[in-house]
Amino acid sequence: MWWSTVPMPSGLKSSQIHHNSALYPVLRIQMDTPSRPEPLYGKEGDVDKLSSATQLISLEVGASDASQSKPIITPIYHSSTYYTKKCKDFVSQVKDGYIYQRMVTPNFEELSMIISKIEHGVGTVDFPSGMGAIFNTLMCFLHPGDHIVVSAPVYSGTSFALRNLMPQFNIEVSYVDASRDVELYRSATKPNTKMYFAESICNPMMWYVDIEKLAVIGREQNVLTVVDGTFSTPINQTPLDYGIDMVMHSCTKYMGGHSDLLAGCTTVNNIDHYRKLKAWQTFTGVSQSAHNSVSLLRSLRTLHVRMKTHNENAMEVAKFLEKHPKVKKVYYLGLPSHPQHELASRTMKGLVE
Ligand SMILES: *Cc1c(COP(=O)(O)O)cnc(C)c1O
Repeated sequence: MWWSTVPMPSGLKSSQIHHNSALYPVLRIQMDTPSRPEPLYGKEGDVDKLSSATQLISLEVGASDASQSKPIITPIYHSSTYYTKKCKDFVSQVKDGYIYQRMVTPNFEELSMIISKIEHGVGTVDFPSGMGAIFNTLMCFLHPGDHIVVSAPVYSGTSFALRNLMPQFNIEVSYVDASRDVELYRSATKPNTKMYFAESICNPMMWYVDIEKLAVIGREQNVLTVVDGTFSTPINQTPLDYGIDMVMHSCTKYMGGHSDLLAGCTTVNNIDHYRKLKAWQTFTGVSQSAHNSVSLLRSLRTLHVRMKTHNENAMEVAKFLEKHPKVKKVYYLGLPSHPQHELASRTMKGLVE
């Protein structure tokens, strides 16, 4: 059999692996580890009692017992589901433990805690992509008949969703050039305005929206303020410190930083907002995978050094281009010649040499 050549962990007897060719191949693997706990559901041999249609792969867990040594990083928990020993434990396990991967996994939880920490928020919900974070945050907090004011231009994906998807849910969208004048949010406000949205800094022109004033206008008008901080990352700007209600990222960009993952997140400064968004995620099913959470966590460990180098390199390129005879204009907030340099320096780090 093909699997007889596959190296086995110690304790496994290859004679105990056999092929049941009824309908599906059935791998029954008996581990020869005396300390291994009894499986909670079913016993070795029970699979024979199943009809061939339900004989899938019965592979008992617990092949290795590493519990004596504590790993310094959290292992990847691929398990979709967790054991509950007694029915009465289920509720407390939903609240404080792990039940099902769509709700929370140790990896997902660790990622959320770390992003909350660097973003100075009370809670973070991770999504499978930046668009997942943006669309689901908007849909969670906006209802049919509501109005959102957006600083234009915005990232093309966000622009597409605002123009083409929001009308389907009867959500009204207005655009303002808030990097020219942040007060335009106030003048665009209507009785049904529920959210102000800005990118900080803006993709692709890197204009700056005065997020300190935006937070003040939001509070005065009782409107939620939401910032897409993808281009700044929490290393260069932490919008929640300036009174913004929610900050989201496409972690596919600098936060991931290695072009090998797609991820997004939304961090909030209010526990009720966190609960609402977390429940929205759980029941719309847009959860981040354990594997991606671990890849992103690994990236975040070097975010500060990567951003420092990005900032230094960007400044070099900007200064080089500014002096270049064939270049008419350079838009870079770090250059003192940029009209918003002073303003942006109030909330943004990383703009100076
Ligand atoms: C790329 C990007 C997004 C979308 O993120 P995905 O991870 O590609 O879904 C959203 N906002 C900004 C500013 C971006 O640059």
